[in-house]
Amino acid sequence: MGKNEEIRKRDLNVLWHPTTQMKDHEWLQLLPVKSGQGVWLEDMEGKRYIDAISSWWVNLFGHANPHISAAVSEQANCLEHVILAGVTHEPAVRLAEKLVEITPPGLERVFFADSGSSAVEISLKMSFHYWRNIGEEGRVRFVTLSNSYHGDTLGALSVGDAGLFKAAYEPLLMEPLVAPSPDCFALPPEQWDAHAAERLADMREIFANHEGEISAVIIEPLVQCAGGMRMYPPSYLTGLRALCDEFRVHLIADEIAVGFGRTGRMFACEQGGIAPDFMCLSKGLTGGYLPMSAVMTSQKVYEAFYDEYTTLRGFLHSHSYTGNALACAAALATMELFEQRDVLADNRLLAAQMLEAVSPMRDHAHVGDIRQTGMILALEMVAQREPMIQYDWKQRRGMQVYQYAMAQGILLRPIGNVVYFMPPYVINADEIKLMANVAMAGIDLATRD
Ligand SMILES: *Cc1c(COP(=O)(O)O)cnc(C)c1O
Repeated sequence: MGKNEEIRKRDLNVLWHPTTQMKDHEWLQLLPVKSGQGVWLEDMEGKRYIDAISSWWVNLFGHANPHISAAVSEQANCLEHVILAGVTHEPAVRLAEKLVEITPPGLERVFFADSGSSAVEISLKMSFHYWRNIGEEGRVRFVTLSNSYHGDTLGALSVGDAGLFKAAYEPLLMEPLVAPSPDCFALPPEQWDAHAAERLADMREIFANHEGEISAVIIEPLVQCAGGMRMYPPSYLTGLRALCDEFRVHLIADEIAVGFGRTGRMFACEQGGIAPDFMCLSKGLTGGYLPMSAVMTSQKVYEAFYDEYTTLRGFLHSHSYTGNALACAAALATMELFEQRDVLADNRLLAAQMLEAVSPMRDHAHVGDIRQTGMILALEMVAQREPMIQYDWKQRRGMQVYQYAMAQGILLRPIGNVVYFMPPYVINADEIKLMANVAMAGIDLATRD
C-alpha cells in the first residue's frame, strides 16, 4: 500500500469531513497533503497540486509563507494565548489598531472571535442588542439576500439562503426577510447597474413594509461566494447604504470571503464608497494560518453598550480563543505583506492574466457565463446557452471537473456547475495558464454529453 492510500484508509476509520456526504469517499479519493509551498500542495508521495481555491479562500500569500511562519514561530516562543477578558496583550492591540486604520472610516471598535460564523453571530447579536439598548425593542428581524451564505452555525445559517446547507435544519432557525439578490448572472456589463437598481427597489419595499421591525440587513459585498460566485456591481452597495440610512437599519457587511484584496480593493465596501455599521472579517485575516475573525463596528454602537454592569447592557459574549496571540501575530504579518509591495496593483495584472487564460471558453457551447471580480473568476457550465438552460445539479458535473483537475495536479472545488479560480496572490503567469488549461479541459470533458 502506498503512503497516500495508507493515510486515506486510516482517515476514513476516524474522521468525519466538513460539508461532505462521506459515502462519496467510497469512490472519491481524499487528497492526503503532506506539505505546502507557495501556491503548491504536495501529497504523501511527492505529487504536486496548485491550490487554485486558496484552501477554501483563506490563503492569501501562499503556503508556508516565510514571513508569516517566522512571525508565528516567534510569537509561540513568547506568548501563545491568554484569556482576553480582563487581560490584554500587544499583538491584539496592534492588530486592532491596524484593522481600524485600514477598514472604511467609522469602524473604530474591534471584537475578536475565532471563525467566520461566530463573527456573523456576533454582528447579529450586537445589532439586535444595540436597538434594545436604545429602547427600540421592536427591531427583531434580519434581512438577507436570496442565494446568500453566512456560515453554518444556527444563527448564521438562519440569515443565509443556501437551500442545500439549510434545508434539514429549517425547524430550528430564525426566519429572515429575504430580498432578491442583485446577482447579475449572464447579464452583459452595461445592464448591471440597472439590474441593481431594480433589486434596490425590492429592498425599499421590504424596508417600507417592515418599518421599525428590522434590526439589520446582512450582505456579502459584490460576490456571493458560496452561492456560486454570483456577482453584482458596487452601485448596489452605495444604494443599499442610502436605504439603510433612510430607514435606520444596520448594514452588516460580511467580508469574510471578499475582504483583504479579493475584489481588487482592500475591502469590497470601498468600491461602493461606503462604510457598513458592522464588518465581519475572517478567512484571509491570518493569511490562512490560524482560525480568527473580527467584527468591526462604530463608536456609536459601542457606546450604547457602555453602562453599569447591572443594567445588562454589556455585550456578554466570548469564545475561549478570542484574541489568540498566535493568530494576531499571523494577521499582523499578513498585513505587513500588503505593505511590502503594491499587492493590489500586482493582483490587477494577475486578474487580467486569468481572464485572458480562459478566453477560449467565450464561445464554448456549455459555458453560459464568464464573470470576474478582482481575483475571483468563475465559469458557469450550462446545458444550453440560448435560451439558457441550466444543468440539473444532481448530475454533479462540477465533480467531474474536480476529479479530472485533481488527476492533472490542480485543486479546484467547483460549486455545483460553477468552476472558479480564487488563487493565492503569489501565483505566477505560468501557473495561471496551467490552472486555466486544466480547468478548460475538465469543462470540455464534463459537458461532452
Ligand atoms: C466562509 C464564510 C463564512 C463562514 O466562515 P467560517 O469560518 O467557515 O465559519 C461566512 N460568510 C462568508 C461570506 C463566508 O464565505
